[in-house]
Amino acid sequence: MISLNDIQKAQEWIASLVVRTPLLTSQTISAEHGNQLFLKSEHLQKTGSFKIRGATHKVLLTANEGAQHVVAASSGNHGQAVAYIARQLGLQSTIVVPEDAALCKQAAIQAYGGKVELFGTNSPERLQRAAQISEENGAVFIPPYDDPAIMAGQGTIGLEIIEQLSDVDIVYVPVGGGGLISGVAVALKELKPTIQVIGVEPALAQDTYLSIQKGERTSIPPTQTIADGLRTSIPGELTFPLVQRFVNDIVLVSEDQIKQAFSLVLSRMKQLIEPSAAVAVAAALAHPPEGKRIVAVVSGGNVDLDRIPSLLV
Ligand SMILES: *Cc1c(COP(=O)(O)O)cnc(C)c1O
Repeated sequence: MISLNDIQKAQEWIASLVVRTPLLTSQTISAEHGNQLFLKSEHLQKTGSFKIRGATHKVLLTANEGAQHVVAASSGNHGQAVAYIARQLGLQSTIVVPEDAALCKQAAIQAYGGKVELFGTNSPERLQRAAQISEENGAVFIPPYDDPAIMAGQGTIGLEIIEQLSDVDIVYVPVGGGGLISGVAVALKELKPTIQVIGVEPALAQDTYLSIQKGERTSIPPTQTIADGLRTSIPGELTFPLVQRFVNDIVLVSEDQIKQAFSLVLSRMKQLIEPSAAVAVAAALAHPPEGKRIVAVVSGGNVDLDRIPSLLV
């Protein structure tokens, strides 16, 4: 469990190391839907995603306890965030990625100063390898979402939303393992219980949606949604109870809706966001209550340029 106070402390800790991202709006899109839509723009965050918030909080705490080396198992945004912040703080980092990880992702991790370790093709194999490296080197493993320090770091987005738009009515948040939404929901609901917090998943990766319906953590088979940051197959052990308690609803969006939102934000707002972030915009456009102030948490903007044509509609 994390509290509002944990998130407020995290905010002080990480303030000088992460960007306070803007709330961008489009008059035209808002007018078309009869409400006001704002994007909490974590695609403009350092390393191109919100993952740097939780990673910075966790790595700072870890360094304070004397760690000099951190390990993560992710070729995506979390791996890049851990590599980046480790270098900023003068720590070594090793990032375990699948043997078939895209070269551009490996290069991004290396450019941020991380050592790339290729291992296996599935996530349990990589986690085991990361645990082994941690043991051999006295390094500390940095989990992607199921950790109180990570969740509190991600929750700082909720504090900023209220500081930037105190009369916000509805906030849409993408859901993978649930670190982002659990932190954001605690911050928003503790400060202002009337705010509606809505989680969004691709229909192809509906593990949290099903888990909420069943009342227990429920896994789905591996999935290939274009929202690659949301392919987790089961909600986190620590994140799920917070989702159950603080999130009003989980809604699903189709692959087509994700592409439409991606294309709309690119063409109208000139912003390059990634499909995992576009799900929040897609949900905000699909369920438009009139006259409300709506925030979509645009969680990141890391998308390989050669993938862009396949995302346009
Ligand atoms: C990791 C990630 C998510 C999902 O975050 P969780 O904490 O796993 O729910 C959403 N969007 C982007 C861009 C991500 O990198």
